[in-house]
Amino acid sequence: MRVPAFAPLVASVAALALTAVCSTSALAEDAPPRLIVAVSVDQLSADLFAQYRSRFTGGLARLQQGAVFPSAYQGHAATETCPGHSTLLTGVRPARSGIIANNWFDPGLTRADKRVYCSEDINDPASTSGNPVVSAQFLKVPTLGEFMKGQWPQSRNVAVSAKDRAVVMMGGHRIDEGYWIKSGAFATFKGGTLSPAALAENAAMAKVIAKGAKPYAAPAWCGPRNRAVSAGKAGALGTGRFALTPKDGDGFRASPRMDGATLDLASRLVKDLQLGKGQAPDLLSVSLSATDYIGHGTGHEGLEMCIQMTELDRSLGAFFTQLDKAGIDYAVMLSADHGGLDMPERLDEQALPRAVRVDPALSLAALAKDIGTVLGISIEGPLLYGDGAGGDVYLSRKLTPAQRGLVLDALVAKLRSHPQVAAAYAAGELAATPTPSGSPQDWTLRDRARASFDPARSGDVVVLLDRAVVPIPAAGKGYVATHGSPWDYDRRVPLLFWRKGMNGFEQPAPVETVDIAPTLAALLKLKVPEGSFDGRCLDLDGGAANTCGG
Ligand SMILES: [Zn+2]
Repeated sequence: MRVPAFAPLVASVAALALTAVCSTSALAEDAPPRLIVAVSVDQLSADLFAQYRSRFTGGLARLQQGAVFPSAYQGHAATETCPGHSTLLTGVRPARSGIIANNWFDPGLTRADKRVYCSEDINDPASTSGNPVVSAQFLKVPTLGEFMKGQWPQSRNVAVSAKDRAVVMMGGHRIDEGYWIKSGAFATFKGGTLSPAALAENAAMAKVIAKGAKPYAAPAWCGPRNRAVSAGKAGALGTGRFALTPKDGDGFRASPRMDGATLDLASRLVKDLQLGKGQAPDLLSVSLSATDYIGHGTGHEGLEMCIQMTELDRSLGAFFTQLDKAGIDYAVMLSADHGGLDMPERLDEQALPRAVRVDPALSLAALAKDIGTVLGISIEGPLLYGDGAGGDVYLSRKLTPAQRGLVLDALVAKLRSHPQVAAAYAAGELAATPTPSGSPQDWTLRDRARASFDPARSGDVVVLLDRAVVPIPAAGKGYVATHGSPWDYDRRVPLLFWRKGMNGFEQPAPVETVDIAPTLAALLKLKVPEGSFDGRCLDLDGGAANTCGG
């Protein structure tokens, strides 16, 4: 604690006053927490948080009593699940974590599937990008949990989510127990066995799925959201309440019940493993996927998301109450892997008429056909590889060096001339760009693209679509809205820290999600090698003391 140099007459009074203040906060002087609970709410944008934060009465209300950073940045352009989760507990941006997208392409791969999934084991012949053998081999850096295990071998590193990539990116290479949903039930790493907690949760989930469940009641204040909007083949959306028909596993997953089950499993693991009560501090990572599934399926501004926000708050509250009852000294961090944007059909009705679906002419097939014809190039197999419009585009390896140069120039020129494209960069341009620094809200588009660029994994061209251009050409069931853009609706997320007894504060200035790992490391008094992080420690004390040790 720093005591300012007051005049001698008032010094004793000032010291007394400071002592009084610090005795109620004292976060910096407290012994480190015994359990870190790191929560990611998939697709919880800063905008959604701002819209609903005054309504929260459960877990999210509690966390708002702590340190609140309403403008945390996933600063990079590739605002997808895997890169976003990779920043949360490594403290480094995707350019350094190597996790540049959910999927990237390696046209030189010997297997038929040229697409690489971010958390697959590429060396296992049984693995494909669509049905991966789960592994952390592509994550180039250690996670907080790994640093903890390095210092305290008895520390446990446990991670749960509906998504394997969230488990892997938050947990890293040395996970004691990790569970995600596969074929409607929690699964774990190849060769691993399900713990009694996972088996019990699977049985509980199976029971609900077999029987079906009633729709959720919506709070009265959700009323204005309850309005149908037509979205192509997805039909009328905006009035759903998640009635579950028997045996509809997919309906269970894309509902608030998925978060409930994930937190329920987390709670069982805390109890069975006695997390927070061992020889060393433990880490429990929980990634809650329902907000993302619901955002993709029905957008942000309907009754569905209003119910989801209500239920998320309630489920988190129940989970924290369990931890309280167990008498665990825990600290919570909550953030998100990326934000999101509502579906264009509703945005158009609600004062954002510029929101549109992407022009089918920007599909890779259309671009490849056009460029191939113009240049008179015909090769075996696809000319271009990529995961839809926007993001990384890869050129076929079958092109001669001369053809390659022509295709690259033609592609970049064509993209840059399209009104829905904000920027297109050749890999060489991004490789020559320094990694960004300074406030993430001031980064140029090129800076944002650089922050998720890896020369060995990124595309030959990186395409950034214009603001409010949704890269789904036509709405379909379960997929009407998305994220992945370099715009702030996808980059800005909330960041909250909470520990019992702490004096909360709100800091509206932008911070980054790569600040989380150094902040938690300092709170734990964990020694991490110099230069391990791209981010900085955030002082969580809010008073004169400093949890960063300054
Ligand atoms: Zn998503």
